[in-house]
Amino acid sequence: MAVEMVVFGVVQGVGFRPFIYRLAHDLGYKGWVKNIGFGVEIHIEKEKESDFQDFLLVLQNNTPPLAQIKEISVKPASHLGLERFVIEKTKQEESFVFISPDISVCENCSKEMMLPADRRYRYPFINCTDCGPRYTIVQSLPYDRKQTTMKSFIMCPSCKKEYTNPLDRRYHAQPIACPICGPQIKLVQSRTRKELKDGIDKASSLLKQGKILAVKGLGGFHLVCDAQNASAIKRLRQIKNRKTKPLALMAKDMAIVQKYAHTSPAEKSQLLSPRRPIVLLKKRKNIRHIAPHLDEMGIMLPYTPLHYLLLENIDLIVATSSNQKDAPIMKDESEGIDDLCDYILTHDRPIHIRADDSVMKVVEDQPLFLRRARGYVPYPQPVPKALESDQHILALGAELKDTISVYKNGYVITSPFLGDLDEYQNYRYFEEIIQHLTKVFKVDPKMVVSDLHPDFHTTRYAQKTQIPHLQVQHHFAHVLAVLLEHEYPADRKVLGISFDGYGYGADGKPWGGEFLVADYDGYTRFAHFAEVPLPGGDLAAKQPWRMALSYLRHAYGENLPVFKAMQKISPKRIKGVLEMMNHNINTPLTSSCGRLFDAVSFIVGISPAEMEFEAEAPMRLESAAARRIRGRYGFEISEGLFPQESHKISFLKMIRSIVRETERGVPVSDISAKFHKTLAYSIAQVAEKAKQQYGVNTVALTGGVFLNRRLVQEAYKVLERKGFSVLRPIQYSPNDESISVGQIAFALKFLQRMK
Ligand code: ZN
Ligand code: ZN
Ligand code: FE
Repeated sequence: MAVEMVVFGVVQGVGFRPFIYRLAHDLGYKGWVKNIGFGVEIHIEKEKESDFQDFLLVLQNNTPPLAQIKEISVKPASHLGLERFVIEKTKQEESFVFISPDISVCENCSKEMMLPADRRYRYPFINCTDCGPRYTIVQSLPYDRKQTTMKSFIMCPSCKKEYTNPLDRRYHAQPIACPICGPQIKLVQSRTRKELKDGIDKASSLLKQGKILAVKGLGGFHLVCDAQNASAIKRLRQIKNRKTKPLALMAKDMAIVQKYAHTSPAEKSQLLSPRRPIVLLKKRKNIRHIAPHLDEMGIMLPYTPLHYLLLENIDLIVATSSNQKDAPIMKDESEGIDDLCDYILTHDRPIHIRADDSVMKVVEDQPLFLRRARGYVPYPQPVPKALESDQHILALGAELKDTISVYKNGYVITSPFLGDLDEYQNYRYFEEIIQHLTKVFKVDPKMVVSDLHPDFHTTRYAQKTQIPHLQVQHHFAHVLAVLLEHEYPADRKVLGISFDGYGYGADGKPWGGEFLVADYDGYTRFAHFAEVPLPGGDLAAKQPWRMALSYLRHAYGENLPVFKAMQKISPKRIKGVLEMMNHNINTPLTSSCGRLFDAVSFIVGISPAEMEFEAEAPMRLESAAARRIRGRYGFEISEGLFPQESHKISFLKMIRSIVRETERGVPVSDISAKFHKTLAYSIAQVAEKAKQQYGVNTVALTGGVFLNRRLVQEAYKVLERKGFSVLRPIQYSPNDESISVGQIAFALKFLQRMK
């Protein structure tokens, strides 16, 4: 008896074939396994009667940790009378389609590393087919040692033996290495490059002395110092030129995490997942200088063997990426690491492609990504069957927090976030990644997609490619990304609520508080926040007091209320901005939701006059919110004058109430909680109207504002109570990292219409 199966999903380059080999071996099946286009093909047979359930059961339930099965098809095959089970070689044209993300050291390897008798005892580069570097070392496909940065290390006989034995855990583990033949650690003093002995041990004792180290990890260098040493952290902040931006921590183990932060079971499982993201957790014990003015901090667990060894003698370290402000994470010493630290703990396994740490919150037990990079990139995202195309597409995203996505054969692959493309180094990184992804995945784009913004670098780049170019409105792309990820049906509409700081509107104005009735084909701007002046354009996005002034002038006219927060700003500057608005100089009108948060945060007195990092004022406002609150503020939804006109939501009533309560000394915690509730209510009311008019009963929540845990929770609560089903980004961030994904969705639908 024989069957043939095809397994689709992420099953190549993740130790899947050796797993099948061992499984067939254990269960006494003959046959073969080989890679095909999007998966593996397996033939198994047995002389005796068999229903193959034993094989299928293990296949479905005990897959290697890096593999992800999307679909298995099984059909009867003819019995060939084979004598063995073999792994067939992959032919060039059937080369691997996917690369696994980088994965933290597995349990087997970390145990082995601690066995004194093992030949890899305390070896910081131990790995196997279930773990270790992947994406960051791959130079070209098929995934083979020769095409990774491990190519310069010649395997010793013992490693070779493991590598070639299909029954070994390290069969075809491309980064396989040992102390004899593999990469080596090196600890040097910065600038002099004088080498120190006892690498890792010495490194941790230097940390305890308050030194700052640069440590080479999987996707780049971290800057590291002892998290219990306030003066070391202060110095690190000076070096990085960051006063308040939160710094990430790495804790030795879960017990240490729980000593400093509260963790839910879902948060714990994210922390422990082999992808090892930074998870934002509620503070239990404040650590000075880590995340000032916020109630959460970002913690991760060690993910490379090197980190484990480094943290043996120290509980908690700051581990922040090594980049200077707004630049990509450094991957080579030559990129200027010496100027940022006292010592460098490095190694000689080159990083081919950078990957910063991923950052998430866990909201209602599901991830909410602030940044999707190491451990997740370049995980493929399937598109809805109805949208599949045989053309390749390249989508370039927006501009801030940019990512690019490529589409090929039913899947989207998205780059790690590339930062703000208006920075020269990030733009180079952007070009580097386009090169890399199109080369590695053999993508030959027949269509390129960018934002509607005429001056974005991505739009300009697209125009230069000479490939047919599509442009998609920013907030529509946000909504499409959610639809694509949830494989939302192509024949149904959704109410897409896209709240962010800024996106180029279809009318050229800065949008950002948008309610779009949408499907893959297009959208109607059903409602939006009533526009207010944005005095100073981009400057207003950095200085919340400008937005406060804008809302106040709108709400009170000439007789501006005088209160504490506003006294922080000199009368001269206030006058200047008022003039600006009066005379309409550099003052576009915006419907941005992010700017409303800025204004409120400033009015209640907890925002800095100038933000050091994006969303600092809104984050402080969210952090301040009281757990429970009764009541909410008023707002007004104006009916459009004619049927096609958008509804406008005005929050001036709310602004007046907030000013009054602030003057009366109502605690910020109460005001903030009521503010969040008010926004959630406005969402629900607009949703009801959209339901009446268009019959939509699904709402998609997206845009950077929906990184706000409180708002997400409140919105879910009211929407679900009213019977809506609610979608939000789970695989991608709601911020502009997901724009390129939405752009792909639009291009796919466009190609379909062209047929
Ligand atoms: Zn392993
Ligand atoms: Zn070796
Ligand atoms: Fe956006």
